[in-house]
Order: sequence, then structure tokens, then C-alpha cells
Amino acid sequence: MTKVKTHFEESDVLIVGGGMAGTGATFEARHWGKDLKIVCVEKANIDRSGAVAQGLYAINCYMGMQWNENQPEDHVRYARNDLMGMVREDLGYDMARHVDSTVHMFDEWGLPMMKNEKTGRYLREGKWQIMIHGESYKPIVAEAAKKSADKIYNRIMITHLLMDDEKENRIGGAVGFNMRTGDYHVFKAKTVIVAAGGASHIFKPRAVGEGMGRTWYAPWSNGSAYALPIAVGAKMTQMENRIVLCRFKDGYGPVGAYFLHLKTYTQNANGENYEKKWYDHTKNLVGEYIDHHPTPTCLRNHAFIQEVMAGGGPIHMVTTEAFQDPHLETVGWENFLGMTVGQAVVWASQNIDPKYTNPELTTSEPYVMGSHATCSGAWVSGPEDLSPPEYFWGYNRMLTVDGLFGAGDTVGGSAHKFSSGSFTEGRLAAKAAVKYIEDKKAEGIKVSDKQCSDLKEVIYKPLENYTVGRNEITGGTVSPSYISPIQGLQRLQRIMDEYVGGIATNYMTNENMLNRGLELLKWLEEDLENVGAEDYHQLMRAWELKHRTVTSQCVTEHTKFRTETRWPGYYYRGDHLKLDDKNWHCLTVSRRDPKTKEFTMEKVPVYHIVDEKKEKKAS
Ligand SMILES: Cc1cc2nc3c(=O)[nH]c(=O)nc-3n(C[C@H](O)[C@H](O)[C@H](O)COP(=O)(O)OP(=O)(O)OC[C@H]3O[C@@H](n4cnc5c(N)ncnc54)[C@H](O)[C@@H]3O)c2cc1C
Repeated sequence: MTKVKTHFEESDVLIVGGGMAGTGATFEARHWGKDLKIVCVEKANIDRSGAVAQGLYAINCYMGMQWNENQPEDHVRYARNDLMGMVREDLGYDMARHVDSTVHMFDEWGLPMMKNEKTGRYLREGKWQIMIHGESYKPIVAEAAKKSADKIYNRIMITHLLMDDEKENRIGGAVGFNMRTGDYHVFKAKTVIVAAGGASHIFKPRAVGEGMGRTWYAPWSNGSAYALPIAVGAKMTQMENRIVLCRFKDGYGPVGAYFLHLKTYTQNANGENYEKKWYDHTKNLVGEYIDHHPTPTCLRNHAFIQEVMAGGGPIHMVTTEAFQDPHLETVGWENFLGMTVGQAVVWASQNIDPKYTNPELTTSEPYVMGSHATCSGAWVSGPEDLSPPEYFWGYNRMLTVDGLFGAGDTVGGSAHKFSSGSFTEGRLAAKAAVKYIEDKKAEGIKVSDKQCSDLKEVIYKPLENYTVGRNEITGGTVSPSYISPIQGLQRLQRIMDEYVGGIATNYMTNENMLNRGLELLKWLEEDLENVGAEDYHQLMRAWELKHRTVTSQCVTEHTKFRTETRWPGYYYRGDHLKLDDKNWHCLTVSRRDPKTKEFTMEKVPVYHIVDEKKEKKAS
């Protein structure tokens, strides 16, 4: 690897990932740290990166406090209900009380917002969502970040975090490589904010073969947000809480605007309201949670999955009524133009005009994320004015590694942030990171040359594996000495799919399956020492796969630990099919020892700080 050039950069605040949370963090870091050096490193190009790359049609988290439409408490109640009780209410409240100011800035920066003609307020799609013409959402927030940062590095994938060699458990920066030039980049930093998005493609997707790459969540979200902190021993929470989405079949087109704005509804193949049919069955599993309003997302999925398993499919969205109204018909189509053009193309190819044919729905493969209707991610400190002692260790959104912060999909426990809430959480993390520096907590950090050169060797090893191993190829592309990233990815996806509750088993798993899954994941991890990369793009694929694998191990450990089915419709523990509030009304927290790579698990109380002060401790 002597040919690879090394670049060094030193900064005060280093932001890993320039998506919604990363751009928010970059912007806010400049506000509080006028004289600080702020650097953002992005795997793609921040103008069109992350889950919002192709735009959005709605901002899904806006309180409307100025008009008393909702208050932060309302949002906490909503997220708590949707997650079957399991959220960090301090984090959710903190995000909600600041999110409106974020949206007002988007408006000032030129994001076209739809307005209600009668009231002049933002046009509501639902209780929390406001509608936008959002094709250029990402370039607009990227501009704010570009104006704020000292430097934005595009096309650099961060593969590892650097640790302080002087003081244990303190961050020292991050390293990665440029996917175009292959250069090695060392970013020494006083604080690091990880904002690298969620994880798709860890479970086998429904679309394989010719459709591979068509997933609901961004295919380039590869779990770096989890793997980077896990590798340095940061604690994670609720990693079992994967998300399954009900979406239009084959194109994963969103259904939110259809349900909320077009008032469409679902039915089984016989035209029946199947959700009612599964009421008693669901009540038997989860008790009174099925009577909550709105019905938690996972329980709606549950009825869908059960109905299909009982032979009532396909399930359809009834669009033929709403689409008779020309305005609603336009909204229905425009909804896809803003963010999922592919769904319109799928319908055209399948001869579906939703005005005359009710389109099919399906449930997706599971994803791991912290900003949507689930809250997997890092275990972080909350804000000092809200958080109980177990949830507070000095700096808002700081992980259990000193100087390491998180935001957006990275952060666990705070669901339903979406794009605006993720940007807001980036702002909160950046403010705290600046304070950490001002409080002189980052003095005297030392990152040795050895640490940097050791990691350099590790990062480029897949290129070495390929260069050496290709000599043994006797035909085709298969070498006895290395596996390619795509082979490794398909192996990972099958393990997760078949043992950890993917579509192959209708989201079902149990302790025996999880144990087997863990065993297979361990062997995969060993084999990934021999992953081969023929160029820098494949090197990125190799590192994406390694990050996905570590994330998957953590998901599997968490799923095994929680011996109940808390979220039927997201996954099922066949050996513990019922929700068990007596023992599991708590958050799960894990830590992987960086040396032994073994996970330890613990239960942490879930505190209900809105409405009820009383805490329910799990035994
Ligand atoms: C299909 C879809 C529809 C959605 N619809 C809506 C909606 O209608 N309204 C709404 O408000 N929200 C919506 N969301 C949610 C919203 O997009 C997310 O909540 C938000 O983008 C999360 O922000 P984030 O910064 O955590 O992740 P992202 O915005 O995904 O950003 C992560 C960034 O990190 C970069 N990155 C990843 N790994 C690395 C690495 N190793 N090194 C360097 N950089 C890295 C990525 O390239 C990316 O730019 C939707 C999401 C999806 C996928």
C-alpha cells in the first residue's frame, strides 16, 4: 500500500455523514463555535446524499406550536404509543421542542412549503406532517452546511473512529479513504458527531436478482452509524426494534399521503376490512395496546401479515374512490414525483392506473434505523433539564465514549424524528460538542502515528486480498482465497433473513434460530478477513459489508436478549409470542467489548416523564 497517499486534517468538530443530521450539525456547530474548525466528511456528495437524496413530499415532524396545533408533550405521547411504550421521552421531548425552529429556517432558506389557502398556515397532511415541494430539499440544507463548514470532504468513506491514546474511552477522530482516488485520510478531531444514517440491506430484500438495489430505505445506508461506535465500545439501545413498512408493492412507494391526505384505506382480496378480523387475536398477544389510538404501526402490520398468512391476500389500497377527485388524483401522482418516481414507473409497467385499479400493498424486509417509526441506535446522554440520572452524563447526545456524539438515525430511543427532527438533533449534538470543547474536556488528546498506520493496513487489506488471490482463479471470477463483497452481502442477508426474523420466515424467530444466526455471523466475520476488492469502489463495498455485519450481530444479540414479542408486525419471538410488560417494560442496552468482541446486555428503566412521573422498572 506504499502507493496510497495519506492526508492529515485536524479539526475541532468532525461530522461523519452529511445527510439531514450531519448538515444540521455542521450548520449549528458554526453558530456556537464561531472560531472553531468544523469539518464534514461524506461518503457521497452532500448535495444529493442520504435518505433525502431524491427529495421528499412532506416534512413528517412539525409541531406547529405557534398556532397551538401540537405541543412537544403531544409528540412524546404519540411516539410512546407507536413504539408500544419504549422510547426515551427526554430525547423525544428535546427534539420536539426545537423542531419548529428548524422548519422555519428551511422555509427562510427557500424550501417551497405548501400553505393552507384558508388559514395561511403550513398545509397539513396529517397531525404531524406538513407538505412541501421537496425535490430540492437536500441541496437546500446542504448549502447551509457548505456555508458553515471550514471544509466538506465528499466521496470519503469513514471506516474507523480514532481513539485518544492518552485517556481511556475518549475520541480522537476518524479515518477513511477516498473512493475515487484511493487516498487515505486521517481526521484528528476533538469531537466527532456520527450522523451516518440507518441500515438497509442487512436483511434480504424482497427485490433480488434484476431488482436488486430497490429497497425502501436508501441502499447506501449501510449501518456505519452503528458499526463505528460499536467498534470502539459505545453502548447501543433498542437494536432489536427493526422496522417493517407497509408500502406499495414492488416500488416501495410511500403510503402516508394516501392514508392521511387522500383518505384511502386498505382491504383484502375479498374487499373486506381485515384489520377488524384480527382484533381478538392481537388483543390476546399485546393486551390493551391494541385499543390505543392511533393503532401502533407494528400492530397494523401484524393484521396485514396474519391476513396474508391466512390466505386473504393480496391486500389492496383502495384508490379508485379518491382518484375520482381530480385534485386528489394529482396529489396522488405528485406524491411519487417528489420522492419515489420508481413507483409510478412500476405501475405503468404493470398496467395499473390507480383511478381504475386498486394497487397492491406489501410489507417490506426489515431495516434498522433511529429516526423513523423505530428507534434503534446509540445510547446517548439526554439534556440536563429533562433527563433522569441514568440518562444523563454531561453532554446532550454524547455517546458513552467521551467526545463522541450522535444524531438522526445514529441515536436510539427517539423515534419519529424524520428529516426535520434529524436535522434538529444534529443541531443539538453540535451545540453540546462545542460546549464540551469550551469546557476543556478535549485537551491533550493524542493519536499516535502507529494507530493511524495500523488502521491504514487494515483498511486496504481487501485490495491486497484480491491482488494476491486473483492469481488462483482458474475460471470465471471465483477465487479459493477470497470472497467478493456481493457474495458476502448475499450470505449476510440470508443469515439475517432466515434466522433473525426476515421475510423468509414471515418475521418469525426464536432463541434456537438466533443462536444459529449468531454462530453463522461469527463465521462470516472471520471470512470477511478474506474479502477481496478489485478497485476502490469494491473497497467501499467491502467496508459497507463489514459495517453491516457488525450491525447485524448487535441486532441479533438484542433480539435474543428481549424474551418477549414487544412489536408483533416488526418481528416475532416464536418462543415468547406475547408482550410481557412485567419483565420487559424497559429499554435494552448492549456493549461490545472492542478487544474480545463479546456483547454484554443490560436492562435500563424506561422513564415516562410526560404525564406520569412513575417509573416502571422491569425485574
Ligand atoms: C424512502 C424514504 C422516505 C422518507 N420519507 C420521509 C418524509 O416524507 N418526510 C420526512 O420528514 N422524512 C422522511 N424520511 C426520513 C428521513 O429521510 C430520515 O429520517 C433522515 O434522512 C435521517 O437523517 P440522517 O442524517 O440520520 O441520515 P441520512 O439523511 O440518510 O444521512 C446519512 C449520511 O451519512 C452518509 N454516510 C453513511 N455512511 C458513511 C460513512 N461511513 N462515511 C461517511 N459518510 C457516510 C450517507 O451518505 C448520508 O449522506 C424518509 C426516508 C426514506 C428512506
